[in-house]
Amino acid sequence: MRVYISADIEGVAGVTSWDETYPGRDGYEEARDRMNREVAAACRGAIAAGADEIVVKDGHETALNLKPEAMPRGVKLLRGWGQSILGMMLGVDRGFDCAFFVGYHSEASSPLSPLSHTSEFDIYQEVYINGEKTAEMDINAMSAAMYNVPLALVTGDKGICLKASDKYPWVKTAAVKEGIGGATLSLHPDDACELIEKSAREAVEERKFKCAPIPEKLVLELVYKNHVKARAASLYPGAVAVDGCTVRYEAKSLEDMLRAYNFMS
Ligand SMILES: [Zn+2]
Repeated sequence: MRVYISADIEGVAGVTSWDETYPGRDGYEEARDRMNREVAAACRGAIAAGADEIVVKDGHETALNLKPEAMPRGVKLLRGWGQSILGMMLGVDRGFDCAFFVGYHSEASSPLSPLSHTSEFDIYQEVYINGEKTAEMDINAMSAAMYNVPLALVTGDKGICLKASDKYPWVKTAAVKEGIGGATLSLHPDDACELIEKSAREAVEERKFKCAPIPEKLVLELVYKNHVKARAASLYPGAVAVDGCTVRYEAKSLEDMLRAYNFMS
């Protein structure tokens, strides 16, 4: 059983402000420590259920948040960015039985987390695929499915867990906090880790995981915070400016959409 884990920080227990998510700023080291512990908990759950290989991709900011020595023995860690259209899913093309998303968060403009965003929080107001508000989870679940890797577990804020249960009903979820405006109501870090470990174990044991569906037609619509950025993005071949801040791209395939998405940020 080979498990792939993509990890983020905005959905980690207790993390509430943007400062806590940036290396060097107030509260980052504490948030980073909790992210490390939650990812390690997911690894332990997978190992307890029989996983014999785990690859973890650090998917936040510098992608250098996870510490190799904080992971259980045997876990392989992918740190840094690989200049790949797979982004936070770098390495998922190497053959895995299932994927976990740990520390994931609500999508751009969602009121369910003070840290809701999709990809670049300072660039996109909203991201739509086929007219539906899109989370990093959705893009990454399709990226995994492109390589026949099913989605087994999503941990993070309550908003993303609800979206996961709604869109991917077979997925095990572990909500470690809830957004209330600019605030969060969060589990104790130890309780969060316990819940994640248990959910990870169950997800692998139950083996109910499936690949996220990849629609045949993919229409990407990006609403930028800044019209200058939108104008620059509209220069991508095939992209069309819908209004001052919105750019639309009709993709020929998921790979084509991921490439456009990468270049249009
Ligand atoms: Zn992040």
